[in-house]
Amino acid sequence: MDDQAHAARTMWNCLHDWWTMLPKERRSLAAADAAIRQARQEIDWLGVLPAQAAQAVLKTYLQAWRNCWEGRSGVPNFKTRIRTVMSVDVPQGRDLNVTRVHRRWGMVSIPKVGRVRFRWTQDLPVGKRADADNRITGARMVKDPLGWHIAFRIQTRESKPVPHTGPEVGIDLGVNVPLALSDGNHQNHGRAPRLPDGTADRDKWLNPDEKAKLLRLEQRAAQRRAHRGPGEKTSRRLHHTYDQIKQLRARATRRAADWQCQTTTAIAKQYGTVVVEQLQITNMVTSARGTIEEPGTNVAQKSGLNRSIAQEAWGRTVTMLAYKTARCGGTFAKVPAPGTSRRCSMCGHTTPGSRETQALFVCKNPGCGWIGNADHNAARNVLHLYRMGHALIPAAGRAVVRRAKRVKPAAAR
Ligand SMILES: [Zn+2]
Repeated sequence: MDDQAHAARTMWNCLHDWWTMLPKERRSLAAADAAIRQARQEIDWLGVLPAQAAQAVLKTYLQAWRNCWEGRSGVPNFKTRIRTVMSVDVPQGRDLNVTRVHRRWGMVSIPKVGRVRFRWTQDLPVGKRADADNRITGARMVKDPLGWHIAFRIQTRESKPVPHTGPEVGIDLGVNVPLALSDGNHQNHGRAPRLPDGTADRDKWLNPDEKAKLLRLEQRAAQRRAHRGPGEKTSRRLHHTYDQIKQLRARATRRAADWQCQTTTAIAKQYGTVVVEQLQITNMVTSARGTIEEPGTNVAQKSGLNRSIAQEAWGRTVTMLAYKTARCGGTFAKVPAPGTSRRCSMCGHTTPGSRETQALFVCKNPGCGWIGNADHNAARNVLHLYRMGHALIPAAGRAVVRRAKRVKPAAAR
């Protein structure tokens, strides 16, 4: 599988080189197809990649250009060996031949690899349950530090959900309270965002013994690095230690994603209308390091906060809420963010210094004096903005969060 994934990555790089060097009038799908065929015949280690997977690389590459031209992403680039996520496509479902062998295990045919067992975690339309409307149409294998995973692409026919008549709720996404809800039903994962000394806890999703193990591994890695002579290759032992560190981190990431999945499902089931604020996450995590002429202040704290923001993965929470509310028949809306954390949700005044600490909000308006959790206050403001009719018109398509202002959406609804 590793060889296939490396071949797929190289195929992308060759394709990118070929495409960008070719005169514009000679670039075509047929020419690219012929070039891939020739490459697979003449370079034997590219032949490791099945023909269908090579076609999938071409399809993804052309889609990357389309995304670029329509303003959804940047210009496609070469894929490096170290940073690229290893993945292989199986674009046709009939090659997969999925069977269930056990309550927890299934078998799948991977081209040029053979029959492989996989953990059965989701209901798949196979055997008697498969028909023209409900079937597996393809799969993608992805590698992370814990191993290879398979994601099936399926096509199903679903009945239109009945409109959800549950209550309305505003949600504030934060670091201290991960999801603060306007009715006070805050969702917390019970992992303290900060260490006792006040700095952001980078490994909050690891248990104490796992944290101790991580520290030990990092010390071991540092020691081995220190003993490495100049120009010497990284030893197998050091690579092994790095892999163990990556595995622990990957386990933490999975825990975070699991909490997110469960929480967003519960919210979508309980509430009929879910409102969040439109966040500009890329602006929030800009580096504090500054330039050589103007160095930034509080660099360490800011980078710790950045890591906390990145770990909460708000963009993914918003994406999950969007599709899960739609599936439950609910309504999902975004409201513009400015001022939601500084305005009082009781009287509507924005008074200076009302946010006493990161967690506490005290209204300085003499006629009000509302005291409460700052994130709860922001969530109530979010819901209020929605009720006042400030909901943003959502853009259909992908990558809503990262798009720059001047760029047009994929299709206006
Ligand atoms: Zn007030």
